[in-house]
Amino acid sequence: MQLGNQQASGNVEDRRGMGVGGGLGVGGIVVAVIAYFLGFDPNSAIQVGEQVGGHKETREAPKGAPTDDMGQFVSRVLGSTERVWGDVFKRSGRECRAPTLVLYDRQVRSGCGVAQSAMGPFYCPNDEKLYVDLTFFRELQQRFKAPGDFAQAYVIAHEVGHHVQKLTGTMKRMEGAHSNQDSVRLELQADCYAGVWGHAAGTLNQLDPGDAQEALNAAVAIGDDRLQQQARGRVVPEAFTHGSSAQRVQWLKRGLESGNPRDCDTFGGSA
Ligand SMILES: [Zn+2]
Repeated sequence: MQLGNQQASGNVEDRRGMGVGGGLGVGGIVVAVIAYFLGFDPNSAIQVGEQVGGHKETREAPKGAPTDDMGQFVSRVLGSTERVWGDVFKRSGRECRAPTLVLYDRQVRSGCGVAQSAMGPFYCPNDEKLYVDLTFFRELQQRFKAPGDFAQAYVIAHEVGHHVQKLTGTMKRMEGAHSNQDSVRLELQADCYAGVWGHAAGTLNQLDPGDAQEALNAAVAIGDDRLQQQARGRVVPEAFTHGSSAQRVQWLKRGLESGNPRDCDTFGGSA
């Protein structure tokens, strides 16, 4: 990626090295480690929150752009998504409330409960924050064999996609509908929205040749069928929550090619 022309977002809350606070030990947390990445079901996070005794105030770290390399990268990608979605919303006469990105390590207290980095990056609609443990990017590269800065940016853009769903009301409409199929449609739309951002980043000259391929690689690597095959040795389509590798690639690609969020209607036809 070429992010030199991109201003870093100030909406980054750096909680690295802070712990969760409140004297909460790791032993006190019952967390089903979910093998799925890129935004687990927020409801499972809420259950986790309840298990550890309800919602406590989340401690906020000062906001700003971190100065270390990875912190800068994440802040610039976030800045790029703010710019792109700000324009999209403006075109339809609406304002895009920017989300906050929280950097943390190991575990974090979110508006959706306490989460651990094993769950992967996620978006919490209650506090409109994206939670990212940067070690996930190492996992993406090493375990999932999906290297590249644009693969990492796709992860962030996917979570921003969930924020867009919150703002447009799609997430709210899906509340109460807990079928896996609805979950898959939400996730595929977030992939498509990530593509929409990628398309715009291209027109802003922020992409290198091969960047799109990095994100598509990542989408293949974190498809439900691929993860299930690795974890259980077989594929159980009824248990998909994010979509198969082929579906994820298809919707990410659609967003990348069209650049128009209207083409991301995963709810309209058969996903
Ligand atoms: Zn997601």
